[in-house]
Amino acid sequence: MAKKKIEKVYEKLSNEYEIFAENDNEWEKNGLNSTDFKSLVSVMLSTMTHTKRVIRACNALYDKATTPKEILDLSDDELTELIKPVAHYNRKTKHLKEMCQQLIDNHNGEVPRTEKELLELQGVGRKCTDIMMNFNFGGDTIAVDTHVHRVLNRLGIVETKSNEDTADEINRLTPKKYKKHAHEWLIQHGMNICISRKPKCEECIASSLCDYYEKEF
Ligand code: SF4
Repeated sequence: MAKKKIEKVYEKLSNEYEIFAENDNEWEKNGLNSTDFKSLVSVMLSTMTHTKRVIRACNALYDKATTPKEILDLSDDELTELIKPVAHYNRKTKHLKEMCQQLIDNHNGEVPRTEKELLELQGVGRKCTDIMMNFNFGGDTIAVDTHVHRVLNRLGIVETKSNEDTADEINRLTPKKYKKHAHEWLIQHGMNICISRKPKCEECIASSLCDYYEKEF
């Protein structure tokens, strides 16, 4: 049932939204993902932070440092100052330094390409790992953030409490052919229509498939 429903949702969303490679992607334009290392750092910095602030912090940081060694050469105060536009910049300073040291000690300064190794890095959680696997290493894992989690729960495709549980469920339910771009469609829907405070259900192309809509209207 949920499998059939999610296929119908993907069909609708894929007609509505462009994939990131086709649209005016802010990350691409600003070079936030021009190397695997920059992608990893940008994703780490992006948690709980609006894209505009992520871009400001990343531009400031990448003007000074674009490799693990160059980040380690910055003092903690310098690094914190550069990434100050993002949320939790003190914690992220600490994690970035530890993660860079791990890359140098264990991976010759390169970003590892397996889920297991990525998850062992300080400050790199499930969402960061799934994004790296999908966008950088050609995998087809669907990354789940707060927007994707919300949309899928409102639709009634999953009934989950955490992003991690949603990620497990949606990766199990989604047919392979939709996995590559599912995150991109779902996140755009969550940011533009199925927004947190008051979803724009009257504009939603998936309302005929939505449990929340059926209950509320
Ligand atoms: S109908 Fe409303 S709650 Fe359901 S997916 Fe669309 S915007 Fe979200």
